[in-house]
Amino acid sequence: MPDKNGHFGEFGGCYVPETLRGLLFDLEKEFAACWKDPAFKKEFRFYLEEYAGRPTRLYYAERLSRQLKTLKVYLKREDLLHTGAHKVNNTLGQILVARRMGKRRIIAETGAGQHGVATATVCALFGLKCVVYMGSEDIKRQAMNVVRMKLMGAEVVSVESGSKTLKDAMNEAIRDWVTNVKDTYYLIGTVAGPHPYPYMVRELQSVIGIEARRQFWRKEKRLPDYLVACVGGGSNAMGLFYPFHKDKGVHIIGVEAAGHGIHSGAHSAAICAGRPGVLHGCKSYLLQDKNGQVTNAHSVAAGLDYPGVGPEHSYFSQIGVAEYVGITDKEAIDALKALSQIEGIIPALESSHAVAYLPKLARRVKGLKTVIVCLSGRGDKDMGTIAEVLNGE
Ligand SMILES: *Cc1c(COP(=O)(O)O)cnc(C)c1O
Repeated sequence: MPDKNGHFGEFGGCYVPETLRGLLFDLEKEFAACWKDPAFKKEFRFYLEEYAGRPTRLYYAERLSRQLKTLKVYLKREDLLHTGAHKVNNTLGQILVARRMGKRRIIAETGAGQHGVATATVCALFGLKCVVYMGSEDIKRQAMNVVRMKLMGAEVVSVESGSKTLKDAMNEAIRDWVTNVKDTYYLIGTVAGPHPYPYMVRELQSVIGIEARRQFWRKEKRLPDYLVACVGGGSNAMGLFYPFHKDKGVHIIGVEAAGHGIHSGAHSAAICAGRPGVLHGCKSYLLQDKNGQVTNAHSVAAGLDYPGVGPEHSYFSQIGVAEYVGITDKEAIDALKALSQIEGIIPALESSHAVAYLPKLARRVKGLKTVIVCLSGRGDKDMGTIAEVLNGE
């Protein structure tokens, strides 16, 4: 648990304008009540299973394991969920909270459009009004996701300020929320933002790790040696990690996007290369220049392209519960190709960062070790990017 002000050690907290304080306090109380209520949990589980397709498989990747020699690799198949990624776990949970609070209008920010699509999906499912803020640069880059959102009845608002990407979309969504607090619910897509979001999203995504733990135990009669997941804001990673974080023998590795390389300046590795600062309502590691201005992130994986990271990951890094490493664009693309060819599974570019760390891990370990990798999403959405890469070869 974070402390009562939402801190994980020195990170997290609730750095928001006065108008939002009360609302966040209400949300904290409402979520606590929901999370204790068997009827809420039952309803959440119903939609996770019947609508989204849980539990997802824990698949033993035999050919990949044989190639790596020292690792027995299990893939947690979040890519098989409805909408193609783990994000729907969170949007389903939060939409149920919003309904309980009597909110009729849902707003969200989106970068690549994946969270926007997952939000539009649950708003269609429950007949709620949906407004998605998206940077105009991202609208150009992710045209298909804009079509998907509109098809499901969402309004997509183009954001023209700043770098016209995710961080600006989030600023705009917060501005909308301040103005429309009464009927509006802000559905944040990852374990970031002001308290209670990082805590709430972690709880909702923990279904990944709870399932994986049970499934792994059934297959191997023990706990895994390693967990590996990609970290953008960090929700799929925290979902997998949290239920294992007290297990001494389990080594936890978060993979950040190193873009063109950590030393190039063009990356999204907030923990590996950032410093503590405040953005979007919480304190966490952040990419910033020497004056403390937040700098632009880069990753070939649009879902990892964010200059911050969830505060609990910053805390995990600081206290040594988890280790954080970087994988470059090129390494991720090579891993996407490799997994496609060796297992017949095309991972999302984000998830490919986690997969790309496996050969490095295989060289590090002694003897035969087991690892669970979170395959956070499927690669269908990335085929445009991959086609460009393949054409250039
Ligand atoms: C959005 C996304 C991510 C990054 O978000 P986290 O909050 O870090 O999990 C990772 N993988 C996929 C497939 C995504 O869509």
